[in-house]
Amino acid sequence: MTESTLVLVLNAGSSSVKYQLIDMLDGSRAAAGLVERIGEVNGRLLHTPARGERRERLRVFADHAEALAAVAEELAADDLGLGSPGLAAIGHRVVHGGQRFAAPTLIDDEVVAEIRRLIPVAPLHNPANIVGIEVARALRPDLPQVAVFDTAFHSTVPEAAATYAIDRKTAEQHRVRRYGFHGTSHQYVSRAAARLLGRDPAELNMIVLHLGNGASASAVSGGVCVETSMGLTPLEGLVMGTRSGDADPGLVFHLHRVGGLTIDEIDDLLNRRSGLVGLCGDNDMREVLRRAGEGDGDAQLAFDVYVHRLRKYIGAYYAVLGRVDAVVFTAGVGENAAPVREAACAGLSALGIEVDPALNAVRSGAARLISPDHGRVAVAVVPTDEELEIARQAFALVHDDI
Ligand code: ADP
Repeated sequence: MTESTLVLVLNAGSSSVKYQLIDMLDGSRAAAGLVERIGEVNGRLLHTPARGERRERLRVFADHAEALAAVAEELAADDLGLGSPGLAAIGHRVVHGGQRFAAPTLIDDEVVAEIRRLIPVAPLHNPANIVGIEVARALRPDLPQVAVFDTAFHSTVPEAAATYAIDRKTAEQHRVRRYGFHGTSHQYVSRAAARLLGRDPAELNMIVLHLGNGASASAVSGGVCVETSMGLTPLEGLVMGTRSGDADPGLVFHLHRVGGLTIDEIDDLLNRRSGLVGLCGDNDMREVLRRAGEGDGDAQLAFDVYVHRLRKYIGAYYAVLGRVDAVVFTAGVGENAAPVREAACAGLSALGIEVDPALNAVRSGAARLISPDHGRVAVAVVPTDEELEIARQAFALVHDDI
């Protein structure tokens, strides 16, 4: 019998589904793709098999069920269908696992019901994740399906860091606490950074900066997360592409009472019209850097606010950890934007944090050090791979179960 080594990773968003079929023998991608604009007239499926041509389908995908059925057809056309004996499991990215899910979890009806009960704390994400799970279970009811939670890696954050200083009864009633997100990436990157340093994660303290369109920092001690910058929702913390990150909660009352904005308008403002886009009109760091380089004042301010917040978090997490062995940059901005890395670490040499300009300027897709040889703290760039981490966790769980 063929050994089943393939894991299908599904990331279902509100109007999109991203997928990767990963071979756990070597982490290679047998296929990858996405369906976007589900429920709209101009739907699009892009399928990239490891062997053969990339295929695009432009049509209406009425809902997630139609979108996943179309993905299944594309995979079947490559002999990699959901019915393939090579498929060991399906791993689902689930954004919010609340306090219940601190580890990857084999999905059954009760688990789906619990993810549903968490919708009030993740109204934008968990509903889409549930639809992805339900459609995939209907397509392959016999196959192990595993939920991997974005919050799980942060479940070890101590109460002192996870608790908001508000009335405790109200907080408990509405499950208000700091959960953190991007956990799968922080977990993957902190382990990959330990490998890069040739050290055991158990003996390392590090600050991981995941800077994508969304952005978050975490403090990881001995492989365990002890602090993270996102909170009840992904709005808290660093400046992001379209989110404000930390802001005085009082501005919500001010904009409502004095500015006359509704709660929904403020929600939209802080989540979609703030951060880099709010400050300069562009949420893509490439554009911000290009414009700032041409002397554009708005773009320069956006860059300055972004890196000021980053530096502040590096300092804060240094204090949380007491000793720092590594500062690690990852995700689109962290992996590619040398000026952000340089500015975020500028002026921190008294803390042992230094960036070597020549190493920082190297463009590479590999994990690498950018600190000088004499640096007390290793500064590293480590590409993240959330899909591979989800596949690994799902595969490990299925194998433990057998
Ligand atoms: P997501 O959060 O959507 O997964 P990514 O981790 O892919 O995001 O990061 C996307 C962001 O990375 C883009 O919005 C852009 O700002 C930034 N980015 C990508 N490439 C570069 C680059 N070469 N230089 C600067 N920023 C980049």
